Amino acid sequence: MPNTYDFAIIGAGVFGAWTARYLRRSGASVVLIDAYGPGNSRSSSGGETRILRTGYGPDELYTRWAMRSVPLWREFFAETGRDLFQRTGVMWVSDASDAHVWQMWELLNRLGVRCEKLNAPDLSRRYPHLRFSDAALAVLEPESGVLMARHAVDALVKDLLQHRVEYRTAAVVEPKGKGRLEEIKTRSGESIAAGTFVFACGAWLPKLFPQVLGARIFPTRQEVFFLGVPAGSDSFSSPNMPAWLHHTHPDRPYALPDIENRGFKIAFDTHGPEFDPDNGERMVSKTSVERLRLYLKEHVPALADSTVVETRVCQYENTWNGDFLIDRHPELNNVWFAGGGSGHGFKHGPAVGEYLSGQILNNAAAEQRFSLASKQTWKARGVY
Ligand SMILES: Cc1cc2nc3c(=O)[nH]c(=O)nc-3n(C[C@H](O)[C@H](O)[C@H](O)COP(=O)(O)OP(=O)(O)OC[C@H]3O[C@@H](n4cnc5c(N)ncnc54)[C@H](O)[C@@H]3O)c2cc1C
Repeated sequence: MPNTYDFAIIGAGVFGAWTARYLRRSGASVVLIDAYGPGNSRSSSGGETRILRTGYGPDELYTRWAMRSVPLWREFFAETGRDLFQRTGVMWVSDASDAHVWQMWELLNRLGVRCEKLNAPDLSRRYPHLRFSDAALAVLEPESGVLMARHAVDALVKDLLQHRVEYRTAAVVEPKGKGRLEEIKTRSGESIAAGTFVFACGAWLPKLFPQVLGARIFPTRQEVFFLGVPAGSDSFSSPNMPAWLHHTHPDRPYALPDIENRGFKIAFDTHGPEFDPDNGERMVSKTSVERLRLYLKEHVPALADSTVVETRVCQYENTWNGDFLIDRHPELNNVWFAGGGSGHGFKHGPAVGEYLSGQILNNAAAEQRFSLASKQTWKARGVY
């Protein structure tokens, strides 16, 4: 007879781990399962660092979710004694005609988020090593910063184990049928029975549920570069450089300061080609390095010829417009999806866990933007 848990959560990334935390808090028995391990290097949560910002242009939903997640991350770090947040500040670099950033400025002020407006002379005075010749406006959130992503997932899962959540390494196969699901099967033939199942499988969701999600989640290949900083210089460390997003640039570059001496991190937020999270090639291309150097030459000249000390290839798991998917399976009524982080989900882990556990345990009001029904099969990115 297989073990029966109240909840089985498949996927130990940031969404699955926070959901497990909330469900376990209700006193329920929980098993957390991952094919490659919590925060593994193939997972979207497996990067070193992720930006935590509240600014989302005029989008009040994600602004409020980020605001909600901040104290929950803090509370978790205080509880476990591991502070995995670095308050570097986060800055949007743009120009006066950019409605996204203006509306963000207005919204952040209305919601009481501390932020500061900088003009071109302010930018060049404060950050002489950065050149934003096309930017006349920047909005800085001084309280925001960077989460140490994979370490945070590791800390979450260690804490879950201490609270008697069971963890297993296993690859779960697609559950079939209609109505109530009694158990899931793993590739090695094991069965795991539970009352409710949550699939928080990131970019694997469309592979695992090809009929339902195959055309609704689009994993894309995203390259990340770490550049060596000049010897003896702390110009690219906090507080001399915040995390920043160059919103007016067509490649949508964003950069993070040198944290734990890993180097200046930079990536382009535009969506890359389609990507297979299991077997996709994770070496960056020479062309990408050349494209990066062209950007650096113009905007971060001190690093234009700097050594690439590390690279990563990760994937976004995009929905059509960037809204999360947090909803029930259309045919299996005790199966839930949590995914569609779309390149911005990490910071929201706590709010995702709180929302989904509220849905499951208390039938709380559902946000239409997270519904499966709202997920289109074409792409029109709308969340930044
Ligand atoms: C380059 C990059 C930069 C990003 N920057 C930011 C940022 O600055 N700020 C931010 O907030 N967000 C950012 N994001 C987005 C954020 O990282 C993701 O939205 C978030 O980590 C998604 O978490 P997840 O738990 O949904 O998925 P994942 O972390 O991918 O976890 C899914 C897990 O499911 C497991 N799994 C899959 N299939 C199975 C199976 N069949 N059986 C068992 N286990 C399975 C996998 O092994 C994996 O561990 C970025 C993402 C990338 C790639």
